[in-house]
Amino acid sequence: MKVNYLYLVVCLVCLYAGNAARGETPDSPWWLRPHRMLQTNLREIDATMDLNQYVREVKQLGADVVLFNVGGIVANYPTELEYHYRNPHMKGDLLGTVLKRLHAEGIRVIGRFDVSKINEKFAARRPEWLYVSQRGEHVNYNGQVHTCVSGGYQQEYMLEILGEAVDRYPLDGVFFNMIGYQRHDYSGNHHGICQCENCKRRFAQYSGIELPATQNNSPAYRKYVEFTNMMKERQFRRVNAFLKGKRPDLAICTYTSVGVDVIRKESNRALGQGTYHDTDKAKWTMLTCDERQLANAAVHFIAIAHRHAAVSPYLTTRRLWQQMVAGAWLDFYCIGPLQRQEDRTGLDLVGEIYRFHAAHERWLADTVPAGEVGLVRRGEAEYDGILRILSENQVAFELTRLEPTQLDRFPVVIVPDAGGLSRQETDALDRYIGQGGKVLLTGQVPSGLDCLAAVKFVETRTFDKGAYVRIRPEDKQKLAQPILDKLDLVFLKGSFHVYKPGADTAGLLRLIPPDMFGPPEKCYYRHVSNHPALMHRRHGNGAAACFTFGIGAHYEAQAHQGHAALLLGAVDDLLGAKRRLRVSTSPLVEIAHRADRAGRFEWVSLYNHSGQRGNALHAPIPITGIRVAFMPQKPVRKVRLLRADRQLDFIKQDDGLVAVVVPSLDHFEVLLFEY
Ligand SMILES: [Zn+2]
Repeated sequence: MKVNYLYLVVCLVCLYAGNAARGETPDSPWWLRPHRMLQTNLREIDATMDLNQYVREVKQLGADVVLFNVGGIVANYPTELEYHYRNPHMKGDLLGTVLKRLHAEGIRVIGRFDVSKINEKFAARRPEWLYVSQRGEHVNYNGQVHTCVSGGYQQEYMLEILGEAVDRYPLDGVFFNMIGYQRHDYSGNHHGICQCENCKRRFAQYSGIELPATQNNSPAYRKYVEFTNMMKERQFRRVNAFLKGKRPDLAICTYTSVGVDVIRKESNRALGQGTYHDTDKAKWTMLTCDERQLANAAVHFIAIAHRHAAVSPYLTTRRLWQQMVAGAWLDFYCIGPLQRQEDRTGLDLVGEIYRFHAAHERWLADTVPAGEVGLVRRGEAEYDGILRILSENQVAFELTRLEPTQLDRFPVVIVPDAGGLSRQETDALDRYIGQGGKVLLTGQVPSGLDCLAAVKFVETRTFDKGAYVRIRPEDKQKLAQPILDKLDLVFLKGSFHVYKPGADTAGLLRLIPPDMFGPPEKCYYRHVSNHPALMHRRHGNGAAACFTFGIGAHYEAQAHQGHAALLLGAVDDLLGAKRRLRVSTSPLVEIAHRADRAGRFEWVSLYNHSGQRGNALHAPIPITGIRVAFMPQKPVRKVRLLRADRQLDFIKQDDGLVAVVVPSLDHFEVLLFEY
């Protein structure tokens, strides 16, 4: 073991000073705070890059963590292991030199390892480590031969590689690429379930049956999927025990959750995956990862086969921003160091967001979600549509599970596609309503929900053409959204659940069953049914309401503002949700609401989506005059725009409400309320 002790001591002192400045304590692992990670995924030829420039560019970008290639396919340090391929372009010790310089700048380093492949010269000597395709062949891709999770390379030799690197270098974390049983190569060719002797033996031991040859819906294949998940978890438990046994302060990061401290994900499609994709992903991961953190890479390139060409700069900023304001890490990934990027069009904007986070860590790094509408993630298009209605109307929401401890923090909770909830979930909802909570369901009323037990299900009808939901004058009094003055119906397509509301349950809106729609002379309906499309029942201080059709899926399909208005009317007017934050602006502005963990401030982030048109993401157009009305928890001392770096005048009403206008939003901003 080669350790330069003086170097170690210097590094520890530097790190400690840096950590103290960032408010980190020895009891709290460093990775639990949101960091700013840069992954410059090095090609072997990048060993010849300018190291001074490398460190300078990381610093200038504002990153405080670098994900740096250490070993596996290529070792970027002078390894002494027999089967670890030294980078032939490297002179000296690339990792050692870079690590020392980055640490001296207070920048942490997570070492990247990829043991999914091994160089062909070693592969020839250790065939028992290799993946075997469905056709009984090894897979050699550009001189790198696929290895198998079941084999000795990934089971034992990987620990030797990790051990050597971690013993020699004071890395801050370890990241694994291409984990699990891979069946494809980089060209997308499918090679099938691994048929190596280790897989055959281990699977037989696990299941008592023979390894399936093909991927299908057979019981053997389902068992195989279970086996691969078990093996992957087992591997990360072992890696975790091995590494933490050596260094408890090492962060373990990869694309799974068992045995991992920082969960890695990627946003990597050339055209993005929907406007709110990263918001949804970050909120969901943060909700379900219990005390851990999320580093979701905003991938620089358009596709694996075109890794030198970047996605739109404004797609990258959207990804980074949506992750950041959900409390996750900033994480940007490109191939090669910044100095060798041939498509640099988006790098300035990446730096702008990174440096914004760095300059305002005090406000951004230790916050908790403060959105007041709880949204349960179920029901695909129904969920997507409701998320979109909330986002486009600046209703600050958070994802929630149907568990008592989680529900209690919301004045109102929305459950999309609510039929089929478990007894445990309906019990949690009843308890929540009993304590004054407001619940909005869509679809079917779940059996077991006491609050709506009196409503009687009649039948589900499915309409393809010609059906509507009638909005009556008496409905408009209860759903007081201004646009409803000009709207007497919305279209209805798909399932409609017919209920008879009980005596103390109000039925709003009415089903207009399908009728004539052609020719124009005959395009009128002759009958409005008595079937409500929205039911409402008060219960103590709480209440439940249910749209008896998929109102979210309707919005997702047509984005008709009528469906949005009905949903918002149900939340704000019918259920009377007391939301503390109201923002009035264009639907193209997305907000998030977070609060300081120690209660010293709250903030509302603003993101301008106006540059988006079809599949193009251009620079946004400034949006002016954004009105914000905020009911603070304590008296507000100051209202500030962090990016514009200016204080705003605000009006304080008698009831304590603070009213403020954000003059202009060019791209992104954080509106800070200081107590
Ligand atoms: Zn295998």
